[in-house]
Amino acid sequence: MSPVIAPEPAARRQHLREQLAALPTPVDALLVTDLINLRYLTGFTGSNGALLLAGDDPAADRICTDGRYTTQVGEQAGDIEAIIARDCPPELARAAEAAGMRRVGFEADEMSVAAHRRLSDGAGGVELVATTGLVEELRMVKDAGEVALLRRACTIGDDALAAIISEGVIRAGNSERAVVRALEWKMYELGADAVAFETIVAAGPNSAIPHHRPSGDVLADGDLVKIDFGAQFGGYHSDMTRTFVLGRAADWQREIYELVAAAQTVGRAALHPGADLRGVDAAARSVIDDAGYGDAYVHGLGHGVGLQIHEAPGIGKLATGTLPCGAAVTVEPGVYLPGRGGVRIEDTLIVTDGEPELLTATTKAFTVI
Ligand code: ZN
Ligand code: ZN
Repeated sequence: MSPVIAPEPAARRQHLREQLAALPTPVDALLVTDLINLRYLTGFTGSNGALLLAGDDPAADRICTDGRYTTQVGEQAGDIEAIIARDCPPELARAAEAAGMRRVGFEADEMSVAAHRRLSDGAGGVELVATTGLVEELRMVKDAGEVALLRRACTIGDDALAAIISEGVIRAGNSERAVVRALEWKMYELGADAVAFETIVAAGPNSAIPHHRPSGDVLADGDLVKIDFGAQFGGYHSDMTRTFVLGRAADWQREIYELVAAAQTVGRAALHPGADLRGVDAAARSVIDDAGYGDAYVHGLGHGVGLQIHEAPGIGKLATGTLPCGAAVTVEPGVYLPGRGGVRIEDTLIVTDGEPELLTATTKAFTVI
């Protein structure tokens, strides 16, 4: 039986192909060396490989990997002619030259000086042109297959969190690390391929550290407990933060929680196609600024999420550009009071022509466990 090749990578390659001729310095082909971009464009998930994407003739595309992946590349990317070699970029440059290509773009963000030297040495008469962010820009807009995988990754996160809450794992006396282990184990049980990133469980004063590393510290009554975590499914990541109070809530905890929730609501409502990225950040940030907690909100509003946990577009004070329809992004404002505690509330959403689609469904109502 021949393997089933998913249709999306070929459509993505075609989309990219159309853009190569329109570059300021047009190229005859693009050499893709970033492994995430390679996966996106071909479906190939090996740890060594590269793609030569031809500007006009799909039949001239070549994928290269080493002998460990001969079978895998046929199964995952059997619709592209494969070259088996150890050092792929120079090999593909030679293939480009043999095919009569004169100018080949390469991914300048993803190549070491040493790799560039080997590529140049092997390029013969081919002129190498530095490009940046071409595939990353395409990756911002998720196709239907990607959205389906993101939905599934987010549902695993929702269900895992609900399960450990109902099992009483988030309780006084349990350590942060014990909560991490239970949550991650539950995500694997529910079908996660991996965790999306190092799970954050931060209790009490630790919750005021935005990216606290979970420790043996134990949860205590009256603590804010901040949990930031996600699952990977089919290569796609989910990202969600919820913050709870254990036992009995103090007024200041409820106050900063409701403030962050209000800012998060404004941030989600600002997710429109074409919205200025800095403007989306500013809309949510102004809610926290106006309440006098601006200095306690020490990071950007959100980021793109997909094959990587952090990808384009970034939504922050220094962001540039606008939000495309179909982007998958997080909205995650926070307020952190050093020595006391912090609150962050984060969802993963898809930007649509109407309301954004909320992928992380766990309640954001103020919750005392
Ligand atoms: Zn997160
Ligand atoms: Zn995030």
